[in-house]
Amino acid sequence: MTFTHIALALLVAIPQLSQPVAATPDPVVIKIVPATAQQAQHAEWALARFEAAGLELPPLTIVFHDDYQSCGMREGVLRIAGENVTIHECQNDPSRSRRSLLHELAHTWDHVAGSIDTDTRTDFLRLRGLQSWDDDDLPWNQRGEEQAAEIIAWGLMHQPAPIPTSVGDRGRQDTLSLTTAFILLTGIRPLFGDTEFQG
Ligand SMILES: [Zn+2]
Repeated sequence: MTFTHIALALLVAIPQLSQPVAATPDPVVIKIVPATAQQAQHAEWALARFEAAGLELPPLTIVFHDDYQSCGMREGVLRIAGENVTIHECQNDPSRSRRSLLHELAHTWDHVAGSIDTDTRTDFLRLRGLQSWDDDDLPWNQRGEEQAAEIIAWGLMHQPAPIPTSVGDRGRQDTLSLTTAFILLTGIRPLFGDTEFQG
């Protein structure tokens, strides 16, 4: 080490000794278990959309399957077992897979990261004319959490596309209404037109 290097090292070290050191948060580890290169691309794209929106996800694993049984006959499902958070993704139709991943990531952002507080949920239910956030007895499109996940997915796509009838299509579907709901949930505007992460 030359004298210059020693001097630089001291310059860097001194402030750290004299000031409290800010705790560095552990990096969030997100694992992807794909079966194909395309599935890996879709997962990376979906994660990049959340990052672009500034919506912080918790540690999780995304596992792809080539059958619907693994997801309880759904496109995808979020399973939480203690600290283990896993999205099982069974939708392999490229036209729907990205949207489905965003939907499950939105559930993760909501349920695991705790990003939608009680007041926001109440306001969202009122806005969408719904009665319950997560009543399993209600049809899919009458549960606040499902509409929320689908509206977040809608707003993170590159272009607005209609919300499918199977998930969250109840209530007003015009762009202004969906944008209002998206902003209520996330605090930001939809990412439409953002081409940075086309992937
Ligand atoms: Zn869902």
